[in-house]
Amino acid sequence: MERIIVTGGSGFIGSHLVDKLLELNYEVISIDNLITGSKQNLTQHKDNPNFKNIIHDVQDPLELEDIDYIFHLASPASPIDYQNIPIETLLTGSIGTKNILEIAKNNNARFLLASTSETYGDPLEHPQKETYFGNVNPIGPRSCYDEAKRFAEAITMAYHREYNLNVVLARIFNTYGPRMRANDGRVMPNFINQALENEDLTVYGSGSQTRSFCYVDDLVDGLMKLMFSDVSAEVVNLGNPDEYTILETAEKIKEIIGSKSNIIFKEIPEDDPTRRKPDITKAKALLGWEPKIELNIGLKKTIEYFENLK
Ligand code: NAD
Ligand code: UDP
Repeated sequence: MERIIVTGGSGFIGSHLVDKLLELNYEVISIDNLITGSKQNLTQHKDNPNFKNIIHDVQDPLELEDIDYIFHLASPASPIDYQNIPIETLLTGSIGTKNILEIAKNNNARFLLASTSETYGDPLEHPQKETYFGNVNPIGPRSCYDEAKRFAEAITMAYHREYNLNVVLARIFNTYGPRMRANDGRVMPNFINQALENEDLTVYGSGSQTRSFCYVDDLVDGLMKLMFSDVSAEVVNLGNPDEYTILETAEKIKEIIGSKSNIIFKEIPEDDPTRRKPDITKAKALLGWEPKIELNIGLKKTIEYFENLK
């Protein structure tokens, strides 16, 4: 039986990935220090003999044997989270990624890095193709995350070049769904919980900035197609190319919930990217992957999840 490590397995995307891999009868080891994740996300597997839950900070080295594949997702991801712990975010992306690459090297395991659309910064090219080098402010408030991920991409490729490690890189765009933390500060949990409570929806700036939202099941499918393909030493965008302004997103959520909330406008955070939309031509060509779940459907499932928490 093949053994797979998922770092960040107790987090939002990681826990959905663990569910899917166990369903397919892989042996799965989650490594997570629970800094932004939750034990709750994996309790359904506590009696599964194919599952092992290691509570560990990837900033510290770890030895594991008989590993075939590693999905490396450990990193804070919400702007509020990573700006609260900027040094830890930088060290997780750099030293943490190096430590996990060492496990891959010692096991000759295939390594997938969960990178991000933030490597493109506030993009001057639209939509963003993998060939775009990005427009990142290296000293701004988001730099702890953006530069950590850019370093992570660079060291992943360096392990490939120096040790011939079998690696692949996913640049993930905004993903949403059940198990996001209600208070993680990202736009979907904020707007949904505000609308459910009939509180004001807090649009930052004029709301004309855009994002393209991918439902988590589609994203996990993309990560697995990428890992279990023969694509090597390539970076591939994974995300949904349907682009919405943040104001449209607020209005849509309000409408689906039938909420009495007002929409209010607050100051825009520094360096907030103005536009973001993946070009997924490469993922379609290499993996035959594209998202299937429309925003309305994904939002309904996500709203239902947050309603049930109340
Ligand atoms: P999340 O915060 O829910 O999950 C991240 C997990 O990593 C958490 O469980 C956290 O406890 C763990 N973690 C953080 N630092 C750690 C450390 N030093 N050691 C061990 N575990 C650690 O976030 P998510 O949205 O599930 O994101 C997962 C991955 O996908 C991240 O690498 C993120 O950068 C990437 N990503 C996510 C999105 C998105 O929209 N959700 C977009 C782009 C990239
Ligand atoms: N945003 C907003 N109101 C909120 C939370 C976020 O208007 O309550 C905006 C934010 O300014 C950004 C977009 O929504 O333009 C997406 O923010 P998020 O934190 O989810 O992720 P990002 O894509 O910026 O990493």
